[in-house]
Amino acid sequence: MARMFKFGGSSLKDASAVRNVASILHRFGDENLVIVVSAMGKTTNALEEVVAAHARQDGSAKQLMDQIRQFHYSLAQELLPEGHEVFVALNDTFVEAYWVLDEPPHANYDYMYDQIICVGELASSRIVQAFLQHDGLPTLWLDAREVIITDDIHREGWVNWEETGKRMEAKVRPMLSQPGFVLTQGFIASTMDNATTTLGREGSDYTTAIFTFCLNGESMTIWKDVPGVLTGDPRLFANVTKLDRLSYREAIEMTYYGAKVIHPKTIKPLQNKSIPLFVKSFIDPEGEGTLISSDIEDLYPPIVTLEQQQTLLSISTRDFSFVAEHHLSLLFQKIADLRLQVNIMQNSAISFSICVNHAPDKVDDFISGIEKDFKVQREDELELITVRHAQPDLLDNLRKGKIIFLEEHIRDTVQFVAKTVPMMSRIEN
Ligand code: ASP
Ligand code: MG
Repeated sequence: MARMFKFGGSSLKDASAVRNVASILHRFGDENLVIVVSAMGKTTNALEEVVAAHARQDGSAKQLMDQIRQFHYSLAQELLPEGHEVFVALNDTFVEAYWVLDEPPHANYDYMYDQIICVGELASSRIVQAFLQHDGLPTLWLDAREVIITDDIHREGWVNWEETGKRMEAKVRPMLSQPGFVLTQGFIASTMDNATTTLGREGSDYTTAIFTFCLNGESMTIWKDVPGVLTGDPRLFANVTKLDRLSYREAIEMTYYGAKVIHPKTIKPLQNKSIPLFVKSFIDPEGEGTLISSDIEDLYPPIVTLEQQQTLLSISTRDFSFVAEHHLSLLFQKIADLRLQVNIMQNSAISFSICVNHAPDKVDDFISGIEKDFKVQREDELELITVRHAQPDLLDNLRKGKIIFLEEHIRDTVQFVAKTVPMMSRIEN
């Protein structure tokens, strides 16, 4: 049985990081591994700039792309000898991206985005595969777009599980029976018509879970720059500790509300087949990390997550009538059509409030779609704080320096939508 490993951008940010990944993989040299890699370092952010520049047609897109290409070439030059075939593969990868930039911007921004952004994962996987091979670890390269099939909603494709499952068996299963590792890209997929799609930002964890589910992996491991899953984001909260074990349920709740350590869609496929998920440190690979498994609930310490870029919408009828069921059904239909993520909702007699992720176009489209029938009050730049297993003194500390717009308590989970008064960035808990 195979194990699946995911290495994200920060574990591949430069040549020495790639060497470190190889040294971790040498410990597993005789195993069947499927290795999923993200784009290197902050490449996806840089590529988003290219997409935006191409849409603006201000002439800067190619220059920005040149820098990205140069970064990958230099990195490959540090790792591999001159004339290595990886340079041909890199060239082919970038040529396709330049073709897109030679065309006028596509009318569908999200489609265009996917055709350009995929270069990050493709280039990364070429370099890492070549280096592993060079370093004595036989590794086959796989184009994830040949096996992960989604619908045609670009930037947020939904997986066609049946088709994906079939292709995994037909294409990847035979690769696994050959000696060595299989290495592929996270985040990218394809429609039935071979157009590149993506699974949403930070989607490489999810890719790895898709492989693990379809191939009945023995376990999945995400290699991170933190020792495991922590009780809060160490960049934002003081006094965080590592959780040694988590149930799937606890993990899904905390990642849904902004724990950035794992992509929220990752847990479900693993839970459905009771496949354990490990979160381990690529800096301290011997460390035991966090094990996410089972449905047995432990006693947990308070766990705090923060989701930024929240928008609060308070919706009321124009004629002062109650917000009734038929209104709600209309509003939810719009929400579903736009795939708007609603994080909290609350209603009163004549108003219905939702806190949503600030997806720029979607929020605007939602408002303009309902404006005829409803009045909408909007507040941007808010944060959503979720505390599971809350304790009163911790909540008091978290509320300090904040204006609270909405607060909700359900059993021992407390959520509030707030704005930080400037000058307070790190919260003592
Ligand atoms: N490279 C993509 C991103 O940065 C996917 C990932 O890292 O998981 O969003
Ligand atoms: Mg990443």
